[in-house]
Amino acid sequence: MVREKSPYENTLETFDRVADLLELDASIRSLIKTPDRSLIVKIPVELDSGEIHDFKGFRVQHSTAMGPSKGGIRYHPDVTLDEIMMLATLMAWKTALFNLRFGGAKGGVICDPKKLSRGELERLTRRYTTEISTMIGPDKDIPAPDVGTNEQIMAWMMDQYSRMEKRAVPGVVTGKPILLGGSLGRREATGRGCYFTGLEAMRVLKMDPKSVRVAVEGFGNVGSITAGLMFKEGATIVAVSDSSGGIYDKKGLNIPLLIEHKQKTGSVLGFPGSDKMSKEDIFGVSCDILVPAALEASITKDNARDIRAQIIIEGANSPVTPEADEILEANNKFVIPDVLANGGGVVVSYFEWVENRQSFYWTENEVNARLEEKMINVFREVLALNQDKKIGMRMSAYMLAIRRLAEATQWRS
Ligand code: GLU
Repeated sequence: MVREKSPYENTLETFDRVADLLELDASIRSLIKTPDRSLIVKIPVELDSGEIHDFKGFRVQHSTAMGPSKGGIRYHPDVTLDEIMMLATLMAWKTALFNLRFGGAKGGVICDPKKLSRGELERLTRRYTTEISTMIGPDKDIPAPDVGTNEQIMAWMMDQYSRMEKRAVPGVVTGKPILLGGSLGRREATGRGCYFTGLEAMRVLKMDPKSVRVAVEGFGNVGSITAGLMFKEGATIVAVSDSSGGIYDKKGLNIPLLIEHKQKTGSVLGFPGSDKMSKEDIFGVSCDILVPAALEASITKDNARDIRAQIIIEGANSPVTPEADEILEANNKFVIPDVLANGGGVVVSYFEWVENRQSFYWTENEVNARLEEKMINVFREVLALNQDKKIGMRMSAYMLAIRRLAEATQWRS
């Protein structure tokens, strides 16, 4: 039996394909292909029961060629070093694509945050921060939220690091609470960025946002914001799913009410007026736009053919496997790849980091306007390369990113 390739192995293969297209020479290839540094840490935490449990965590820095490395921290039971290496690589491409003076990084802890008490989460976060403190810092490597983490986790990380440094260091993490130096608009930035790229894609395909039907996989920080903005725009959100299942309403779901329902009950299920469906059914729903905004590899060779949507906005990182990608390509889907679609998060993280350095904070309108400008410009750059080379939006985005990373590395070699 042929062993399935891991997410990181797939990413390395993609890198090789892009490097071939760019005709990169062997020395630069090896300099930028794999992460610079990977740390595995043991995180002993006293649980509320009094028992000590050793959690395992990671921090991977892919590259620092263009500046300090940047990327989120994931708390999830399925976290592996392989996954974090893949995500750190994607972060390096993402920051390069958006022309931010950052490298890429990612961190993670194998845990189920939903099953930990607030005290346990705090102790875990503080100990993890201490364990990775040799790597992070406002001029070295700057964590942010990702799946399973939020502004509270960032507040504890900032506090722990500041205690160790014996001074306030707000710039060590982004995605913090506003009162601790977080940026207005950061929490919504990833979803808002997806929305801006979706609008651009509709412009290209001459689709009217008011008459499109949208399905969203994952109703967390990314999916719920994208759905909310599309709803405000007049689109019909016909289906939504989260980790407990999916719901459908042909007439359209009222997203602000659904957000309230999820806050109250913990899931989208049971929303008045909607029909229940399985998580998997979301991919076959009759719609124009599909937003995979959950975890990686949710669109596979087994469900890619079911997809009826014309536009796919990758809110999650790496939601489409390479085999599925070939099917989408063959079916002429317009895919807005992860590094482009969900780049709004790290763009506003960059704004937050700049605000922290200047100790001068922007209004929400300023943040959103600068985000919109950045998303549109980068989208158009990727589109132009795609129209020129006909290699698809994904390969175009990766080409722009990796070329920039290669050039920056060349300058420093
Ligand atoms: N976790 C987000 C991502 O995957 C944001 C990273 C950041 O802001 O540093 O892009």
